[in-house]
Amino acid sequence: MGKPGKELSVAIVGRPNVGKSTLFNRLVGKRLALVDDTPGVTRDRREGKARLGAMEFTAIDTAGLEESAPDSLTGRMRAQTERAVADCDVTLLVGDARAGIVALDRHFATVLRKFGKPVILVANKTEAKGVAAAALGEAWDLGLGEAVAISAEHGEGMVELHDAIAAHLPEPADDAAEADDAATKGPLKLAIVGRPNVGKSTLVNALLGEERMLTGPEAGITRDAISIDWVHKGKPVRLVDTAGLRRRAKVDEKLEKLSGAETLRTIRFAEVVVLVLDAEQMLEKQDLAIARLVVEEGRALVLAVNKWDLIEDTATAMKVLNRRVEIGLPQVKGIKVITMSAVTRQRLGALMDAVVTTHEYWNRRVSTPKLNRWLQAMIQQHSPPLVSGRRIKPRYLAQTGTRPPTFTMFCNRAAELPEDYRRYLINGLRQDFDLPATPIRMTVRQGDNPFHDKDSR
Ligand code: GDP
Repeated sequence: MGKPGKELSVAIVGRPNVGKSTLFNRLVGKRLALVDDTPGVTRDRREGKARLGAMEFTAIDTAGLEESAPDSLTGRMRAQTERAVADCDVTLLVGDARAGIVALDRHFATVLRKFGKPVILVANKTEAKGVAAAALGEAWDLGLGEAVAISAEHGEGMVELHDAIAAHLPEPADDAAEADDAATKGPLKLAIVGRPNVGKSTLVNALLGEERMLTGPEAGITRDAISIDWVHKGKPVRLVDTAGLRRRAKVDEKLEKLSGAETLRTIRFAEVVVLVLDAEQMLEKQDLAIARLVVEEGRALVLAVNKWDLIEDTATAMKVLNRRVEIGLPQVKGIKVITMSAVTRQRLGALMDAVVTTHEYWNRRVSTPKLNRWLQAMIQQHSPPLVSGRRIKPRYLAQTGTRPPTFTMFCNRAAELPEDYRRYLINGLRQDFDLPATPIRMTVRQGDNPFHDKDSR
């Protein structure tokens, strides 16, 4: 663990050609990494000041083994790795997702486990479609936790890598849960989705205060998407949008069937998704389908019930609405539902406040010691059931990610832990650590805490 006052140091280890140097270069920056890069010289390691988002640390690269004699490869690798790992706080074990887990990776995993220091498994070269899923599924039997999928070359997965490393920063002194500062820097990426005619374009225009949507927004983060930046109460917001909104004025609305692929793409660009509903037909099947898609994708969801100006009996409408949300979206308990009108510009501020707050929940991080004290209390209150005469024992709980809050629990007989017990824990987390409105993920894994050295117990 990084000690307060001392900078965190992170070693990058793994077998040859998995992309260690590429990752090192990405973290440290090309300028520094080129220094001393004489061909034929076997460097033991390079160190550099690395930066990921707002987080700074020392990166230790162990690449350079490629040039060493093959017969001594394992021995050299081991010695070098051990030295680097001995000096670091956190180790990144890099593998090649395209090749999957090979024997040498297992060898490394075994060596690293002996140190009893935190290891983050990194699956590199995942830029190709379908590669990540396969590699991640396989990674678990290394006993090092879930792999972080990245492409060092393309700079993908850096947010996830940041979060994984940040989890090993010194624990925050106070606060049961707190926003991960680094992750909340930069503009909040917002998408506005919904069925045709619910008022998306009207809402966007109202938010921006001008007819910008129709007059050609600026080029955005990718060729396919456009983006618009503005600031809400000091918080930079970036509206990420796709062709769905752009085309709107020209396309025959009847032809513009909601395209699932397009909505999905918009959702994936975003951190927070506002689903616009029509107050006169709210939370219909199609609305719910989009809402669930957002939750499944792990994005933060806010419901904007538009055209509220047309509703006469607001009390009854409110009741219907609340009931539908409760029944239709139990997986995001506490979700913000804002009744509003894009035309009369009512409650636009409330909508944006809800967006910012939900984004904070989505970024929240709970410290590991607190989680484990909490887990013990939850077990005492309501113990897991006996399965064929033996009790299932949850052993360790850690937050393994944010955006959305993601937890991994280690447990004996993990496969037999009933779904309702998992849900009991998720609901408890939501309540006790103030995590409303955001999807919460929890994976249950077989075994003890894999971050600890089993051999030394
Ligand atoms: P989009 O397809 O979701 O982008 O929907 P539009 O923004 O084009 O709006 C569809 C229709 O609903 C238009 O006739 C808008 O004027 C109308 N509309 C949008 N928002 C509101 C609202 O808050 N109140 C009322 N009464 N009408 C609205």
